[in-house]
Amino acid sequence: MTTKFPALVATKADAEQQSNFQELSFDDLDEGDVTVAIEYSTLNYKDGLAISGAAPIVQRFPLVLGIDFAGKVIASEHSDFDVGDLVVLNGFGASERLNGGYASYARLSGDLLVKLPSEIDSKAAMAIGTAGYTAMLCVLALEDAGVQPDSGPILVTGAAGGVGTVAISVLAKLGYRVEASTGRVSEEGFLKSLGAQTVHARDPLSAAGKPLQREVWAGVVDCVGSHTLANTLAQTCYGGAVAACGLAQGADLPATVMPFILRGVSLLGIDSVQAPIERRKQAWERLATDMDPTTLDALSFALEFEQLPAAAQEILAGTIRGRAIVEIPTA
Ligand code: NDP
Repeated sequence: MTTKFPALVATKADAEQQSNFQELSFDDLDEGDVTVAIEYSTLNYKDGLAISGAAPIVQRFPLVLGIDFAGKVIASEHSDFDVGDLVVLNGFGASERLNGGYASYARLSGDLLVKLPSEIDSKAAMAIGTAGYTAMLCVLALEDAGVQPDSGPILVTGAAGGVGTVAISVLAKLGYRVEASTGRVSEEGFLKSLGAQTVHARDPLSAAGKPLQREVWAGVVDCVGSHTLANTLAQTCYGGAVAACGLAQGADLPATVMPFILRGVSLLGIDSVQAPIERRKQAWERLATDMDPTTLDALSFALEFEQLPAAAQEILAGTIRGRAIVEIPTA
C-alpha cells in the first residue's frame, strides 16, 4: 500500500532524541497479525517524558510515540479479532520498543490488544485511558485482598490526577465510602461530584509520620508513594490493604514493617504496563459496568494532534487538568 499518514515519531541523531511529525507508510509499521486504524490516543505523564526525551522511555529509533490508543481493526489474521472490532492498547512496550498510538495506523500482535466492551467506544476508552485502567487494576487488587464496601472507608491519594479521579468514580459507584487526599483543595467540589465524601489536604500525609498511627482506612489507592504511602500504611486498619501504583511524591518508601507484622496490612503492587491480558480484559469489562459514563466529560478534554509536543511540556510541568483525548488524523 502506498498510503501516507501522519505520525509523531522519535528519532535520534548524535545521541540527541528528537520528536517530529512525519509521514509514514504501511511499510514503516511493525510486524503483526492485526492492523488497527487508530481513532484516539491520549497524553500521559510517561508520554510527556517520551516526547520531550526527558527520560529514556524510547528504546528503539525511529519509533512512533504514544503509550496507548483505541481504534478499529481493519485487517486481522488473529482468531480473536475481526475487521470492525474496536480495540484498546495500554502499554505493553508501546512507545518503548513498539510503535505507539500517535499515528493513523498500527500493526501489532493481537495478543497485546483488548476488545472494547460494547459500552465503551474509542473516545471513551481514551477518556478513561491508561490512568483509568490502572485505577481499575487497583480496585481489582483491593477486592482480591478482601476489601469490600462494608469494610470501611477507602482513601485515594493524588486524588485530582488521572488515576485518582477514576478510582474515586469507580469506588463510589461500587458503594464504598471514598475519601480523597489532594494538594488542590480548590478541586473539592469536583472531587465530591465524582463521589468523594470527604476531601483532605495532602500536607499531613506528605510529611514523615509515625510507623503506626490511628487505624482509619480499610483500603487505599495510592498514586503518590514516599511518605504518603508510608503514612497510609500506618493508618490502614487491621487486615486492610494498600494498592500502590504511583510515585508522584517520590519513588522512596520510608516505612517500617510494623503495619505488616502487627496489623496484617497488605501492600499490593500495581503494574499496568506488563499486566497479563486476562487481567486487562477483566479491568476493561469492569470499567464498562462500574464507572459512571457521565463523569467522562468532566474528566477529559480534547487536545489537537499538532499540540502534542507543547502539551508534553505542560504535563511535565503539572499544569494540565483532566485527561487529554487526542483525535488521531486519518490518512
Ligand atoms: P497525574 O499527574 O494525573 O496525577 C498525579 C497526582 O499526584 C497529581 O494530580 C497530584 O494530585 C498528586 N501529586 C503530584 N505531585 C505530588 C507531590 N509532590 N506530593 C503529593 N502528591 C502529588 O498522574 P496519574 O494519575 O496519571 O498517575 C498517578 C501516578 O501513577 C503517577 O506517579 C504515574 O507515574 C503512576 N502510574 C503508574 C502506572 C502503573 O502501571 N503503575 C500507570 C499509570 C500511572 P493532587 O493534585 O490531587 O494532589
